[in-house]
Amino acid sequence: MVKPDLASIEVRSFVGGVYQEGTGGLIEKVSPIDGAQLPGIKACSIADVNSAVVCAQESFRSGLWRTQSTEERKKCLLKLADLMEQDKEYLAFLDTIETGRAYSNFLNDSIPKAIKTLRWFSECIDKLQGTCITPAQDRICLINSEPLGVVAAIIPWNDPLVVAVWKLAPALLMGNSLIMKPAEQSSYSLIRLGQLAINAGIPRGVLNILPGYGEIAGKALVTHPDIRGVFFTGSSSVGKQILSDAGMSNMKRVGLECGGKSAFIVTANCSDLSSAVKTLAKNMFYNQGQICSAPSRLLIDKQLESEFLVSLLEEIKLYEPCDPWAPETRVGAVCSETQFKSIQGFIRRAEQAGIKKITQDAPKMPHENGFYISPTIFVDVPLDAEIAQNEVFGPVLVVHSFKAVKEAIEIANNTKYGLAAAIWSDDLNEAMLCARALEAGTVHVNSYGEDDESAPFGGVKESGIGKDKSLLVFEEYANLKTTWIQLKNTH
Ligand code: NAD
Repeated sequence: MVKPDLASIEVRSFVGGVYQEGTGGLIEKVSPIDGAQLPGIKACSIADVNSAVVCAQESFRSGLWRTQSTEERKKCLLKLADLMEQDKEYLAFLDTIETGRAYSNFLNDSIPKAIKTLRWFSECIDKLQGTCITPAQDRICLINSEPLGVVAAIIPWNDPLVVAVWKLAPALLMGNSLIMKPAEQSSYSLIRLGQLAINAGIPRGVLNILPGYGEIAGKALVTHPDIRGVFFTGSSSVGKQILSDAGMSNMKRVGLECGGKSAFIVTANCSDLSSAVKTLAKNMFYNQGQICSAPSRLLIDKQLESEFLVSLLEEIKLYEPCDPWAPETRVGAVCSETQFKSIQGFIRRAEQAGIKKITQDAPKMPHENGFYISPTIFVDVPLDAEIAQNEVFGPVLVVHSFKAVKEAIEIANNTKYGLAAAIWSDDLNEAMLCARALEAGTVHVNSYGEDDESAPFGGVKESGIGKDKSLLVFEEYANLKTTWIQLKNTH
C-alpha cells in the first residue's frame, strides 16, 4: 500500500459538522509500530464538551433527524456504510498507524465487520413494531419507543470502528443525537467517520466526535445533566466509575461493555483436540490478546494437558508479532508503550511469584522501537494469582488443570468477570449442563468467537450491564412510552 501523508490526518474534533480545535491541550502520539512521531490530537476540554452538548441538543430539538421517517434514517446510514466501504483503505491505515494492529486485520476483517453491522442495523429499523394492548373493550394502550435525546458513546482503542458502529447505529437509527468520544490512543478513524456521516446526509450536530482524555472529556460527558444516556466500552474499573458518576448526575441510562477473563474449558470428552488448539490460539492471540472476550484462561482436563500443550506451543508460532503493514501479517504490535509496560509488568510479577512460563520470546521483533510481545503461556497457575484473576489485555494465557467438570465450572466462575466462555466436549449433555452453569454473557460449545449481528453481546458480573448488537439493543437507546386511550361508548 502507498501510505498517505501523515500531515494530512485530521486531528481536530468534529462538532456541528465542522472541525474545531480542542482547547484541552495536545495528546502527543508515537506509533506503536516503530516509535515514529504521529500528529498529536487536540484534546477537548470541559468547555468543548459543554458546547458540543448544546449543539447536539439543538440538532435534537430541531427534529431534523429525530422526526425523519425511519426509511430516511435508514437511507442515510446505508449511505454511510457505502462511504466507509469506499474509504476502507484509508480508515484501515488510520487505525493501523495509531494502534499497531495488523493492517490486514483492519482491512479484511474489522472494517468489513463494522460496515456489515451498520447495514444490518439499518435494514432492521423500518421493520420494528410497537405494541398495542387492549385490557378492556373500551381501553387501548399503545407502547412505543422514543429516542432518549442527546446520548454519548465512549469508545476503547482495541477495535475503534467496530465498537463505534455497535453504538452509533442503534443510537442514530432510533433518532438520538450522539456525541462520541474516541480513546486517546485511537481517534483518527472516528474523527474521519464524523465527516463521512455529513457526506452521507446525516444532519449537522447529530453525530459529533470529541477526542480527548477520559478523565476530562469522558467524565464531562458522563456527568453532564443534559445527556440522557452514556454507552461505554472499556475497562471494568472505568465502567464502575461511569456507573457511579452517571447515577450521581442525572440518573442517565448507562450501558457498559467491560473487560473479561474468559475460560476455555476442554473436558476429557473432547476428541477433536486439534480444532480446540487452533480455535484457542486464534481467539487468544489475535490482536496480541487485546480483545475483551479473548479466552485468556485454558481449563484443561489433567489427562489431556501435556498433549494439548505440545500442540498449542506449535500452533502459537503462527501468532508471533510481525510487521503490521505486511499483507500476510496476522499479529502486529500492542497499542502503546503504556500497554506494553502493563503487559510486561504482569509477566514479570508472575515470574517473580514462581509461576512457570513455558514460552520464550521471539529472538527478533519486527521494528526496534515498536511494542511487540510474543505469545506467553503460564502453567500450573494458582487460582488466586494476580495473573489468573485480572485482565492482562495482552498475549498472555494462563493454564489450570482439573480432574472433574464440576471443578472446571467452579474455576471458570471464580473471577469477577463474566464476558464469555467455551466448553469443548463431545458429550452434548455434559456441554449443555456446563454451558448453563457458566457465569458468562456468551458461551461457545465446541467453538469460540462466533459473531453475528443478530446475537446480543455483553457480559455479566463486572463485565458489564446491557448488550451490544441484536434487535434487543434498539430498546437500550430508547424510552418506552405507554399511552392509554379511553374510548367512550357511543352505541
Ligand atoms: P479504558 O477503560 O481505559 O478506556 C475506555 C474509554 O473510556 C476511553 O475512551 C477513555 O478515554 C474513556 N475513559 C477513561 N476514563 C474515563 C472516565 N473517568 N470517564 C469517562 N470515560 C473515561 O479502556 P481501554 O484501555 O481503552 O480498552 C481496553 C478495555 O476495554 C479492556 O478492559 C477490554 O476488555 C475492554 N473492552 C471491552 C469490550 C466489550 O465489548 N466488552 C470490547 C472492547 C474492549
